[in-house]
Amino acid sequence: MKRVALLGATGSIGRQALEIIEANPELELVAAASGKQPIEGLAPLTQVGGDPTRLLESAEPDVVLNAVVGFAGLPGTLWTLEQGIDLALANKESLVAGGDLAVAAWERGGGRILPVDSEHSAAFQLLEHREPKSVDSLVLTASGGPFRGRSRADLEGVTPAEALAHPTWSMGPKITVDSATLMNKGLELIEAHFLFGLPYERIEVVVHPTSVVHALVRLRDGAALAHLGYPDMRVPISYALTYPERAATRIPKLDLASGLILEFSAADEDAFPCLALARSAGEAGGVAPCVLNAANEVAVAAFLDGSLPFLGIPDVVERTLDRLDHPPARDLDDLVAADAEARRLAAALTREPAAR
Ligand code: NAD
Ligand code: MG
Repeated sequence: MKRVALLGATGSIGRQALEIIEANPELELVAAASGKQPIEGLAPLTQVGGDPTRLLESAEPDVVLNAVVGFAGLPGTLWTLEQGIDLALANKESLVAGGDLAVAAWERGGGRILPVDSEHSAAFQLLEHREPKSVDSLVLTASGGPFRGRSRADLEGVTPAEALAHPTWSMGPKITVDSATLMNKGLELIEAHFLFGLPYERIEVVVHPTSVVHALVRLRDGAALAHLGYPDMRVPISYALTYPERAATRIPKLDLASGLILEFSAADEDAFPCLALARSAGEAGGVAPCVLNAANEVAVAAFLDGSLPFLGIPDVVERTLDRLDHPPARDLDDLVAADAEARRLAAALTREPAAR
């Protein structure tokens, strides 16, 4: 039996995780937490809101699935890594914002991170037991979102409802908007850097509209290995929760007889500047990724409530990054302060039209 603690139990990932846990007699849900929604009775221990540290301490889990959305997932990530407990990580924002601190806690704790993000789950499987020097680069695929193929001018008046209509994945609202701006892939680039210890110049992003190939690894002899599967998060959730056994799931097998379309193209960084913004924030290091993430969370919320146009999202993120310094965070307090400062500035900038 594996004891599972689930943070973010009421979300898109959280609900799919409950389905996987329910269907697998080897998995036992010992604790569950949500941000606001009531969850009493869902698990022996439950908590709504606040820092989940005490809950996790009492639950004594074998694996923590962090499916909280946003920077709010950071305490759960850091606690789990520090304890050396397996972390099934869906909450990419905690690794983006707190990458250096998280990696240090991971090294001290000596546990595992089992990525739940589909591209990173794929990359983890492609890279496991592989000689690092044989790997040239990692390729992350992006669906391109609902606005793939549009120019910057075409994106001017797009609405939240249009941004929320994702072509291949059904997910929570924040990540769905991130997929539409390509910030999701930018966050994933930073996530991959910290998870796999690869420098940014060895992580590529490619657009692949059907989301069947989740990631590729290019090897130094010219071979490339790919990980394929239908876009269904229950597969990487199940993989992370049952690692290393890889339990069976009820997900349909890849149908090769009726034709799979594996098309790839470069991302349009003019229409979707968030990708390049994330890459340069990652390369800048220090608290730059934390600032990027905070500004993005504020801008996405403003877009969803109708107070910021779609193209305002990259604009607010870029101006927030430009106006703040990005020293390294020595500890969690530094990081929380950088996050708060970036949120204040980004909120002010969402009310201030860009000077063009
Ligand atoms: P969601 O909005 O559907 O659910 C978010 C969950 O987090 C909810 O249970 C909510 O109660 C909880 N939460 C929100 N604010 C909180 C706070 N302040 N404190 C504690 N809990 C809080 O989001 P989602 O789509 O399930 O995404 C969750 C995470 O997984 C995100 O980091 C996302 O990027 C990542 N992810 C999601 C998918 C997907 O298919 N949905 C795929 C890959 C990665
Ligand atoms: Mg992903």
